Amino acid sequence: MRFTLYIGVLLLISACQSTTIQQNLTETQKDTSIVADAATILKRKQIPILCYHQIRVWKSSDSEVAKVYIVPPATFEAQLKMLADSGYHTILPDQLVDYLTKGSKLPSKPIMLTFDDTCEEQFTLAAPALKKYGFKGVFFIMTVSIGRPRYMTSEQIKQLSDEGHVIASHTWDHHNFKKYQGEDWATQIDKPTKRLEEITGKKIDYFAYPFGLWNEEGIPELKKRGFKAAFALAEKRSESNPLFTIRRIIAAGSDSPKTLQSKIERSF
Ligand SMILES: [Zn+2]
Repeated sequence: MRFTLYIGVLLLISACQSTTIQQNLTETQKDTSIVADAATILKRKQIPILCYHQIRVWKSSDSEVAKVYIVPPATFEAQLKMLADSGYHTILPDQLVDYLTKGSKLPSKPIMLTFDDTCEEQFTLAAPALKKYGFKGVFFIMTVSIGRPRYMTSEQIKQLSDEGHVIASHTWDHHNFKKYQGEDWATQIDKPTKRLEEITGKKIDYFAYPFGLWNEEGIPELKKRGFKAAFALAEKRSESNPLFTIRRIIAAGSDSPKTLQSKIERSF
C-alpha cells in the first residue's frame, strides 16, 4: 500500500503525467484500499455454511446426540438434492472472504458445505455426491487421524484438493483452542499446517475451531500465522474479529430436507 502510494507520488511528480497512467493508478489504489472494517463485515448478510461430520448409516448403539453428528448417506443425498433444487451454489472460503472484505459478487443463493474431523466416508461417500451436483466442499482435517482406520489417508486428502475442494486445518488432535499455551501453538497449529501443505502442495489459509470454541486472546495467534479466516459454530460472532469467528450450523442426521431448508433460512 505504502509502496503503491510512493510509486504514485513518483509518477505524479515525474514528467510523464499522461492521464491514462494517472487514471490507472487511481483505479489500482481504489481496489487495494477497499477492505472492510469489522463493523462493515458484521453488517453484510451472512452466507449460510453447513457443517457435517460422519456420513454413515445409524447403528443401534448410536445415541440421540450422536445422531446429530451422523448423517445417513440417503439423508445426505436428499439434503444435497434439496440444495440443488432450491438453486443453491456452493462457494469456497476465498470467495467468502472477498465478499466479506471487499463486497465481491457471489453466485446466486451462495452456500458453503464444510466437513470436519477427517472421516473416511467424507471421501468415499460425500465427495462423489457433491460431484453429482457440481458442488465443492471444505474439509477441515485433524492431522492426528490421517491414515488411521476409518479416517482419510493423505492420498485421499490430496485427491480432494486436486479436485478443487479446499483442505483446511482443524488442529492436530482436536484439543480445545481456548486452552492453548506455549508449545500447544506449534503442536496444534504450526505442525498441522505444515503437514497439510506438504500433502496438498498448497497454502493452508483456513481454520476451524474444535467444538466451535474460540477466545479473543487466541485469534491474534491465528492471524500471526497467516490464516485468512477461521470458522466456529452457531454462536454470535466476535464484534472485533468477525472474519475469525465465521458462523456455521450443523446439518443434522435427523434433518429432513425441509427442516434443513428452514434451519438455513432462520440461522443466517
Ligand atoms: Zn471437529
